[in-house]
Parts: sequence; structure tokens; C-alpha cells
Amino acid sequence: MRGLDAMVTFRGTLADVTAQVLVVGSANADLVVAADRRPQGGQTVLGGDTEVLPGGKGANTAVAAGKLGADVALLCAVGDDANGTLLLDSLRSSGVRTDLVRVVPKPTGLAFITVTPDGENSILVSPGANHALRPDDVAGCLPGPEVVVVSMEVPLDTVEYAVNAAAAAGTTTILNLSPVAAVPAPTLAVVDVLVVNQHEAAWLLGRAEDSAVTTSELPALLELGPRAAVVTSGARGAVVVEAGGLTEIPSPSVDVVDTTGAGDAFAGALATALAQGSALADAVEDAVRVAALSVTRRGAQPSYPTVAELR
Ligand code: ATP
Repeated sequence: MRGLDAMVTFRGTLADVTAQVLVVGSANADLVVAADRRPQGGQTVLGGDTEVLPGGKGANTAVAAGKLGADVALLCAVGDDANGTLLLDSLRSSGVRTDLVRVVPKPTGLAFITVTPDGENSILVSPGANHALRPDDVAGCLPGPEVVVVSMEVPLDTVEYAVNAAAAAGTTTILNLSPVAAVPAPTLAVVDVLVVNQHEAAWLLGRAEDSAVTTSELPALLELGPRAAVVTSGARGAVVVEAGGLTEIPSPSVDVVDTTGAGDAFAGALATALAQGSALADAVEDAVRVAALSVTRRGAQPSYPTVAELR
């Protein structure tokens, strides 16, 4: 059996010690509107009612791991407002440790999300409290965790500090470089697993974000410094890029309802399986399965499966 199945017996064995997985990243309230099409520049489109759901790349990743039974903590910043409470409630009910969540005098981050009938989404983020997450906040959390996952939507110096501190502590360090941004080469060089989608991979390889990137081009990602890269490819699954070669992991075919947060579900499941000792390709196989299930339901965090549902 793979790592996700083994986790059922894991939860609780590390009670009262440092979390096994630490996620450093954003927490946002997702304001989700379904619409027949997304507005282009200068256009107004009427959509459905607005749903307010817990989201943000960091919170989503932590919730995905928590629902899979990982011992996971989230380091993030939320506002002292109703959306901050919504996020804390979702984290707690998903089994995520919230002792590292900072509550700051700024509004909780907001993500304005349009979902079209094909399940695709477009997202505009207003970072709010996420800007308050500083390198100092990370300093007290390491060493300790076995796996650290860092994602964007928080200040770049915090991302850099978290990646470098985690690597220096000997922790398996995952950087989910989404949304993609220029991260200094010395930071990329200490990353164990770089996780990007196709568009982000294209950008990193010096292309326009909307250009196609072929599988044979992906080994060039390792020249940027990470020990391994995982490129998610939507309905096609994901590709693992290691010095020894490429491994393509296909996705199960599913009926897509909403792809929001699929990449974060993937990152959370990947971290969980790696923390359980899975080899990278096996961990990616788990992550593809979890992310595929997540796109069959609406929203980000509410769509993530538990171990029981995976079975
Ligand atoms: P998002 O921005 O929607 O969170 P992403 O753009 O970061 O996602 P994708 O490559 O689109 O990343 O999706 C991440 C993973 O989610 C994929 O590797 C795959 O496992 C799963 N996934 C996404 N879309 C589909 C789909 N249509 N069918 C099955 N699995 C999917």
C-alpha cells in the first residue's frame, strides 16, 4: 500500500511534539462566483450568487494534508475578522494545528474567483493580512518538521527565509512556486522538490506563461537548482523530473466540476506522502489521485478528500 493508506495509523503518534509537516503560506477567503464566461477587459458579466469559502494556497495545502491524516501545522497570517474566523474554523475541523496562525490588524486576504462551466477558474488575489507574514515568524518553527511546504502569495523574503531555513535544518523542502515569481538562484538551489504547473514551468524556462512546454524540455528545470521538480499538468496528471530521468504519472479520468485549489490539494498530499517516507514518484501518484478527486467537487478546501474517501 502507498503512503496515504499508511497514514491512518500515524495520526496522533506525534501528539505534543512538533508537527511533522509545516506549511508556510497564505490564507484567503475565496469569494466564488459561477459564470457562463469570464469577463474580458471592459466587459461586465452577470454571474450567480457569491459563495464565501476558506482558501489561500497555504491554508489549502495544510487542509489537504490534515484531511489525509498528516500531523500538520500552518504558519500564516489572517485578519481579526469574520473571514479569519472562517479560516481558523476550517483549519481546525480539518485537523490542522493553528497555534502558529498569526491574527493581525489587517483584513484577511481575499481571492475573487470566477468559475466557468468547464470547471476552469480565474483568480484575483488581494493579499491583506498575508503581507504581515515575516521571516521572523518562520524562525521559531525550525528545526522540527520533517517536511516543509512553502508557497507564494506571501512576501518573497519570507518565502526565501523559510526555504533556506528549512533546508539548513535538514528538512525535506518543497517549494510550490505558485503564483510563479523570480526566486533568487541560491534559494532555488536548496529546494528538494520544486512544484509548478505547466504555465509556471514555461515561465521558469524563459517562455511566455501561456506557451506550451513539452515534456522533453522539463529536465532544464533542474538546471535552476532544485534536486527534483514536479510539473502538474491538469487532466494529464503530473511529471516527475529527477536527475535519473522523467516519470509521467497519469491522472484518473474524472468528471470535472471545479478545479479551484487542485494544485494545493496536490501539494498537501505530496507533502503528506513524503513525510510518511514514500519515494517521490509514489508520493506524486498519491497526489494525483487526491487532486483528481478534488476537482470533482466545488470549492477548494471543502473538495479535498479524507483518507476514508480515497478508499
Ligand atoms: P489550480 O490552479 O486549479 O489549483 P494548477 O494550475 O496549480 O491548479 P493543475 O496542473 O491544473 O495545477 O492541477 C493540479 C493537479 O490537479 C494535476 O496534476 C491533477 O492531478 C489534478 N487535476 C487538475 N485538473 C484535473 C482534471 N481536469 N482532471 C483530473 N485531475 C486534474
